[in-house]
Amino acid sequence: MNDKNYYKEGDSRDVKILLAEDNPMNQKLAELILRQLGYQVDIVNDGREALAALKMTRYDIILMDIQMPEVDGLEATRMIRDPKSDVCNHEVPIIAMTALVMEEESEQFFDAGMNDYVSKPFDPGKLDKIIKKYIALQGHQRKISDDE
Ligand SMILES: [Mg+2]
Repeated sequence: MNDKNYYKEGDSRDVKILLAEDNPMNQKLAELILRQLGYQVDIVNDGREALAALKMTRYDIILMDIQMPEVDGLEATRMIRDPKSDVCNHEVPIIAMTALVMEEESEQFFDAGMNDYVSKPFDPGKLDKIIKKYIALQGHQRKISDDE
């Protein structure tokens, strides 16, 4: 079996996503899409809650809104990447979620340590593609087979 076939057989139900988003409507919409795609989703309302969740749980990927109260998406990302912060996984892929992306803005995301971004409202197909891209980079399909 080559890697590509192996990957297609990976099960999205084994993928844990942390969704950090302060807008209740956007939360519901993103949750619905992610659950329909078959992923496990936990939801937090801001960057501070995201950091707290990341101390307890090892997520496969984070979808991070940029503008949030308390700790915003950029600040939360810097803290996750800081080796001194006590999150489980400093390398977890972080995807920015944003309404409008301009070039300078996306540079800010990368400077903060984010891996990529998706624009709101989501195209479910694009969102799934980006999630799978980063999960594949982490070798998640191997993890799934090891658990069996
Ligand atoms: Mg927001």
